[in-house]
Amino acid sequence: MTHLSVAEIERVMASMPEAISNTFGQGQPANYIPALAGIDSGKFGMAISTVDGRDFVCGDATEMFSIQSISKVFNLSMAISHMGEELFDRVGVEPSGTAFNSLSQLEYENGIPRNPFINAGALVVTDALLGHVTSPKQEFLSFVRGLANNIDVHYDEEVFRSEYDNGQRNTALANYLKSFGNLNNHVSRVLDFYFYQCSLSMSCQDLARAFRFLAQDGKHPYKDKQVVSKRKARRINSLMMTCGTYDEAGEFAFNVGLPCKSGVGGGIVAIIPGEMSICVWSPELGTKGNSLPGTEALKYFVEQTGHSVF
Ligand code: GLN
Repeated sequence: MTHLSVAEIERVMASMPEAISNTFGQGQPANYIPALAGIDSGKFGMAISTVDGRDFVCGDATEMFSIQSISKVFNLSMAISHMGEELFDRVGVEPSGTAFNSLSQLEYENGIPRNPFINAGALVVTDALLGHVTSPKQEFLSFVRGLANNIDVHYDEEVFRSEYDNGQRNTALANYLKSFGNLNNHVSRVLDFYFYQCSLSMSCQDLARAFRFLAQDGKHPYKDKQVVSKRKARRINSLMMTCGTYDEAGEFAFNVGLPCKSGVGGGIVAIIPGEMSICVWSPELGTKGNSLPGTEALKYFVEQTGHSVF
């Protein structure tokens, strides 16, 4: 049960566009992936999915956008539903304090990425997941469609191509991991599956629904089963809190106080354990790769409602 009344949530949602209006024009859509650069930067959407099954939407909440690194939570969830603690021998659980695509940290830490939510860590998790699935792309897509309860969730070929053609940093990271013996599969197979995951298109409403399992102890939002165990759901939330917004995770904990995961498509998902999942989307990013209007929207929401895990 959420402690917030419907009227209270609706009031905050209705005042949101006005509350964040002065954050536009200060950032830029991701331009290192050309397919994302041309997006209308005035877009803003927000969706909430409560553990008692209610949905709230505002602005462009039903418009599909590129989920990018938000996919790293689906990747990790799927991987740890198949395997145990051994995954964390290959990838750490510490905030990185460096950019999401940093190469230098991998060098002095001998090929063990800091956490599953930076690119190097997600590549290792992707490699591990490949060992547990027979049709990786189909299984990943159907996992996410099931969580969102929407078969319109799809893969965007143009974004995928654009990432591949401009993926020199990710290619370097994957080769580097391979040189340390921390990838079992061929580099091209890992990159292909990783770029596929980043190229899924979903709306705020899809993402809020799909992440609800993390607000309800790992229980599937639409099926009578666990997505992951309660213990694993807690761990994913902890990692989102400490590592989900890269080298801005401290500021997010300070200002928002919720487990969050962002992507360079401009989406950010936040979890209020026991209550709801929230997704905000707006393409203009700050220097750390997180949506500026999206960050402001989450700050405003917690200020107005008093929600925080602390
Ligand atoms: N696909 C992007 C990349 O690999 C994901 C990064 C992100 O969303 N932070 O660079």
